[in-house]
Amino acid sequence: MSDAITIERIKQLHPKLRDEASKIYAEICEALKGKAICRFSYTTRTFAEQALLFAKGRTAPGPVVTNARAGKSYHNYGLAVDIVLLVDTDNNGSHETASWNTEKDFDGDGKSDWQEVVAIFKQYGWEWGGDWKFSDKPHFQKTFGKSINQLLELYNQKKLIPQTNFVNI
Ligand SMILES: [Zn+2]
Repeated sequence: MSDAITIERIKQLHPKLRDEASKIYAEICEALKGKAICRFSYTTRTFAEQALLFAKGRTAPGPVVTNARAGKSYHNYGLAVDIVLLVDTDNNGSHETASWNTEKDFDGDGKSDWQEVVAIFKQYGWEWGGDWKFSDKPHFQKTFGKSINQLLELYNQKKLIPQTNFVNI
């Protein structure tokens, strides 16, 4: 089952990733057959949104939620996706419960739903944050071999796809 919010968020990704992300999402929706569906909780985050997030726990109240300043996250270039599972815990047809459980096999096919999603992203050559030393299990990215600093330089030089804020890669 697919999630309308996710379909909208895929449209906010970098133009080079939109078709691929749609295919990935269609495969995910086919793979998860049980009580859990997958939502892309974040795709693109603007520089302004990233700056607000970075301020949390520093110059704004609350806990620190990111170490990335504006322009220092692949989300700022539309090249990253964060996921969450939404679970129909009470079997009423609405998927009301967010889950970050990476082990649970909600659809009883012998594979954890989270790992099914990881496998699909990896098939398309995306990196998974769960493989990193500072693990970020909801996070996936496709960088086209560009470092954050290279992307930031392109952005600062206004090397953008016309009529968009996406860097031309
Ligand atoms: Zn992320």
